[in-house]
Amino acid sequence: MSTLTIDSLVAAITTPGGREVHDPATEALIGTVADSTPAEVAAAIAAARAAQPSWAARSDDERRTLLHQAADAIEANAEALAELLSREQGKPLNGPNARFEVGGCAAWLRATAETPVPTEVLVDDGTTHAELHYRPIGVVGAITPWNWPMLIAVWQIAPSLRMGNTVVNKPSEYTTLSGLALIHVLNTVLPAGVLVPVTGAGDVGAAITASADVDKIMFTGSTKTGKKIVETTASNLPRITLELGGNDAGIVLPDADPKAIAEGLFWGAFINTGQTCAAMKRLYVHDSIYDEVVDALAAFAANVPMGVGLDEQNVLGPLQNKMQYGVVDRLVEAAKASGARVVLGGDPDTSKPGNFYPTTIVADIDPQNPLVVEEQFGPALPVIRYHDVEDAIAQANALEVGLGGSVWSADRDRAREVAARIQAGTVWINSHGGVDPRIPFGGVKGSGYGLEFGVEGLKGVAVPQVVNG
Ligand code: ADP
Repeated sequence: MSTLTIDSLVAAITTPGGREVHDPATEALIGTVADSTPAEVAAAIAAARAAQPSWAARSDDERRTLLHQAADAIEANAEALAELLSREQGKPLNGPNARFEVGGCAAWLRATAETPVPTEVLVDDGTTHAELHYRPIGVVGAITPWNWPMLIAVWQIAPSLRMGNTVVNKPSEYTTLSGLALIHVLNTVLPAGVLVPVTGAGDVGAAITASADVDKIMFTGSTKTGKKIVETTASNLPRITLELGGNDAGIVLPDADPKAIAEGLFWGAFINTGQTCAAMKRLYVHDSIYDEVVDALAAFAANVPMGVGLDEQNVLGPLQNKMQYGVVDRLVEAAKASGARVVLGGDPDTSKPGNFYPTTIVADIDPQNPLVVEEQFGPALPVIRYHDVEDAIAQANALEVGLGGSVWSADRDRAREVAARIQAGTVWINSHGGVDPRIPFGGVKGSGYGLEFGVEGLKGVAVPQVVNG
């Protein structure tokens, strides 16, 4: 298997004269990329439609083998993929970042290939024999965001392909090259038409969701766009999985050990420099250990290096784009103006190039402050003091969204009691945000519906069919 260099990878996916793509850490030009015209979007969907019957006609074993070969191709090109991802998204090579994300793509392809989807015998009583099968849906429109541009694409693509569907994938306009690079490598293995990229912004996404030739939408992005997709799809009724934004709460119970949990709290909130759907975005800490938790967290956070992603020592990077930098800056300024205490960070150095916002921890903040109730999606964590756990649970549940949540305690049973009362698709105990290809993942309330990963994720990109008789 041939190994691409970063230069040959960029050359394969860029279009001369297209829109410029800049590194969010250095502002250097990485390459140029063209957006798809409406005719190109229609052609991509038609190609996926044409390829689907023969892809579905292959055996499950053949498709599983191809997913493993796709994982081999990712591994063979991992360093070039990670370097491009780091340069375009901003996330460092090291830490739970670019190399980790590329490794996750291969791991998810393999796990998706290895997850059994057995036919379910529903009734077998001598007179009735009814079975539940999972059949291909057709063409999947996969619309992906800019925070984990390769891994989230694999989360949508791998199960769709496994279940006999073909895929049209639109990467985020902010991370088009990362999306195209992933598809380029996967397509060194996959048959033509099975996985087709299109490029562009929301209008191109809307063209996919409005197409009568798309049978299923897999979408990861904002709640606002998720609602638009539901409206756009009303006339054709494709099936939809929506993994939308969150504003995950962590609740630290009075019996937790502040020093022991500091590192887990940090990565739960600051992984990918806070640009993760299921990151901890507001932390509620009991008054009896509040100061110790804030101090331990700030002491850990102060020593975590942030900088240019290609510099091997860094594990935090810039914000991916100026729009998100503006959100984080506005919310931290609102917190400061309210009199909240900035324990760490909060003072970006605007003389440096790049979208760097320093690791920021804000204490003694009002529970209704915008930094608490709006999703910051960046490296700024509000820590809210509570006296009664009932109040913390009520505040955790008070928002429109419900993706993840966490409870931190030395008493697992007590933590599980609190977890059961949090309105979220996943509640972690003494950690936050870890995902696993064997474990289903999805949101409740405004964080969307449908599950990804595990056998539930595979069923979500198939149509159930009962065979009775
Ligand atoms: P974010 O604010 O995090 O960028 P978005 O929901 O805007 O989240 O974007 C996620 C993905 O959805 C991107 O690929 C984007 O281009 C796409 N998108 C934006 N608007 C629409 C739309 N109306 N229909 C379909 N896709 C869209």
